[in-house]
Amino acid sequence: MTIKPKIFILYTGGTIGMVKDYNSEVLIPFDFDQIQERIPELRQLNCEINTVSFEKPIDSSDMNVERFQDIVGIIESNYEVFDGFVILTGSDTMSYTSSVISFMIENLQKPVIFTGSQLPIGDLRTDAKENLITAIQIASSHKNGVPTIREVGLYFEYKLYRANRTTKLNANNFEAFESMNYPILAESGVQLNFNRKFLNIHPYNKKPAIFRKDLDTRIAVLKLFPGITQNVIESVVLNPEVKAVVLETFGSGNAPTCDWFVKVLKKAIDNGVIIVNVTQCVGGSVIQGRYHTSVHLKKIGVWSSKDMTTEAAIAKLMYLLTKNLTKRDFKKYFKKSLRGEIS
Ligand code: ASP
Repeated sequence: MTIKPKIFILYTGGTIGMVKDYNSEVLIPFDFDQIQERIPELRQLNCEINTVSFEKPIDSSDMNVERFQDIVGIIESNYEVFDGFVILTGSDTMSYTSSVISFMIENLQKPVIFTGSQLPIGDLRTDAKENLITAIQIASSHKNGVPTIREVGLYFEYKLYRANRTTKLNANNFEAFESMNYPILAESGVQLNFNRKFLNIHPYNKKPAIFRKDLDTRIAVLKLFPGITQNVIESVVLNPEVKAVVLETFGSGNAPTCDWFVKVLKKAIDNGVIIVNVTQCVGGSVIQGRYHTSVHLKKIGVWSSKDMTTEAAIAKLMYLLTKNLTKRDFKKYFKKSLRGEIS
């Protein structure tokens, strides 16, 4: 990392880069190249900032595989020249996007920090300025030339999280995200304090980062509820287009025990579909076999996602499905921490 770090900011869209059109009251994107004029404080930071914007900024609900590939491609082509990356997206799907990006970059040795805001940058009470300024500071932080953060993070409302541990929990509060199963990586107060013990501290080396663009989206998420019907379950898990299912279960991984439910899931697994068990709870872990209402899942070959979020499980499946792995290896990699996403 250089003495005056070079930070690359990518604006993909979302509230952070919007201003209110005072005639129509509608939020519209502003020209992000003018960011330094909007936030003159950026000039006080001891870093060089380069800003690039998606040609057509998107609401994060329109994120998709092509956009993920665009983000990774932009990071890749600027990776050698820049010391840190700040990726601005809408907060609605930020946990999904940042989780996927964490899998798409192997051996990441530089900070990639996602942030956004709940209020537009032009709003008097905006949270955008603090989020952006601190995200840049985090991306610039280094010790003896070694970046402090060498993973994909998500910074929001004074907290830096491991991105693939986060979930958006609140549509209104400035504190929109939570990482229930992993401690925060840094907290911004009077000082910016890093929680060094919990950072991804793989050895710093010159091994090149590998940027993987392939993703397979033939995945379904099936959230159980008491009363869910056989037809609905069948239409998801026996759909020939579906290669993997994230089964959102109750509590510590529990599900109905009735015959038809077990039979349908088993049929899907026998057909080669991968079914992973993620809890609907925002915190805690799946423990298959803890209650008798999860023993049957384990028996038929449903895999526990332990304390992974749904967002991380989807991202990991999108990534692993492209690898033509044997079922045994797929299971091994799914259960193993690849980017710090599972305890
Ligand atoms: N709807 C917006 C988006 O996710 C909200 C935000 O920017 O936080 O793109």
